[in-house]
Amino acid sequence: MTVDSLFKFHLGLLPPQAVTEDSNRLAVAYFAICGLELSGALPDVRPDILNSWARTVALNLVDYMAFRGSWSMNVGAPCVYDCPDIMGTLFALQVLTLLARRGSCDANATLQSINTAKTADWLRKCVQPDGSVAARVRDDGTPISEVDLRFTYAACAVQRLLHIDALDGDKIAAYIARCVAFDGGIGAFPGTEGHAGTTFCGLAALRLLDRDLTALPFVSTKRFLLNLQGSGFCGRIGKLEDTCYSFWVGGSLALLEIDRPPASLATEDDFLRRTEDKLTGGHSPHPDGQPDVMHSCLALAALALRENRFDPLTSLPTRDTT
Ligand SMILES: [Zn+2]
Repeated sequence: MTVDSLFKFHLGLLPPQAVTEDSNRLAVAYFAICGLELSGALPDVRPDILNSWARTVALNLVDYMAFRGSWSMNVGAPCVYDCPDIMGTLFALQVLTLLARRGSCDANATLQSINTAKTADWLRKCVQPDGSVAARVRDDGTPISEVDLRFTYAACAVQRLLHIDALDGDKIAAYIARCVAFDGGIGAFPGTEGHAGTTFCGLAALRLLDRDLTALPFVSTKRFLLNLQGSGFCGRIGKLEDTCYSFWVGGSLALLEIDRPPASLATEDDFLRRTEDKLTGGHSPHPDGQPDVMHSCLALAALALRENRFDPLTSLPTRDTT
């Protein structure tokens, strides 16, 4: 069995330990299809299968505007449980973009069917008066969901992937600046401690909004990120190392255009070898753990970042990935 099999399996059935992710099926699809692209297996997938994956994603397009996170959220009528979702929309656009690049006509047709003017109106509603972004909103823009920097990044990436101009960059950038913590990391919202995941989200959002990163406390942000490395990386100082932080920290350093010393890369290689499952080739969060599609994809993405084969702005493999 290879890691390709692990990715393909999750595009059909979820294994028992992952059934709680049923409401995040587009996230699972993104990690699986992005993983197949990074492992070099996507070009070998038959066109009819690429199209079937694209049609599954298209089922979640709501009002030709944005995507729900999973078909399991479809209750047959618009409601607070079944409405467009920022993360679902980003994952859907990423998957459709990858499939369209590999020649899926159904993926291309779905991308063409999106009414981007409506998407732009919806994105503007997701931005709250203080510049934060909600994942789901009512028609009047009041949030149904959490509000944090993950959704800020997703909104900015959706704008980029659809080539639209919907967001007030100054307002959002000012909010991100308020999320910079005392340690140079960026927190999920103002007043919270720095975290590798939200640091990536904040930096990528600023770059997607064409903002200058030199306004950040560059030296302390760099120190915050590099200090997260033991053998692998963790998300906050003193926490357990985890495969996915190789991507969140590696992506942050790439966005800041900071080169890592060879010893840092070698130490990380050793950690990633220890989180690689010898049977499936997938990666688990920690050594000797259970591999999953998210950590398998992000391990490959972290390695691809080093060779400029992964774009940290859109979180997609670059076009010349073979
Ligand atoms: Zn993780």
